[in-house]
Amino acid sequence: MSLLSLRVDPDPVLCRPAQPVARVDEEIRRLAQDMIETMYANDGIGLAAPQVGRDLQLFVASPTRERGRELVVVNPVLEAARGRNSIVEGCLSVPQVWEKVPRATWVRLRGLDGTGTPFALETEGLLAIVLQHETDHLQGRLFLDRLPWWHRRRLPRLTRRRACA
Ligand SMILES: [Zn+2]
Repeated sequence: MSLLSLRVDPDPVLCRPAQPVARVDEEIRRLAQDMIETMYANDGIGLAAPQVGRDLQLFVASPTRERGRELVVVNPVLEAARGRNSIVEGCLSVPQVWEKVPRATWVRLRGLDGTGTPFALETEGLLAIVLQHETDHLQGRLFLDRLPWWHRRRLPRLTRRRACA
């Protein structure tokens, strides 16, 4: 396993919708394992493939940070979302910025797991927020993009989005 280097805003790979994974093969499984190690090494609770420079619909998550209980999600689709919630979020691709982001409370997500098996997950709380944050990455969106304009305007100039604007 190896640690991957993180891409940081305004890297253009963070601005584009990622490509669907055609097949969950050995290479994808290895990438997911490396992403899990990289996520833990950087104290993250989620990491999407574009954040390590890979243009693929893949993310890993571990809101409880429990080893062996990580979620690997390939080609995710957020099918439904309900309610309003917000917590202070950060992102490994936007260092030193933490902001309260409007999100749904509850989501239903469909995708493939790390073995390529289809699954659906209905969840709320922190995991629901992580799923929304990571799914956004695969659409080329950062959490800063979810802030209302008046809130974003208050951010220091350098932490506003530049590359994708
Ligand atoms: Zn992020």
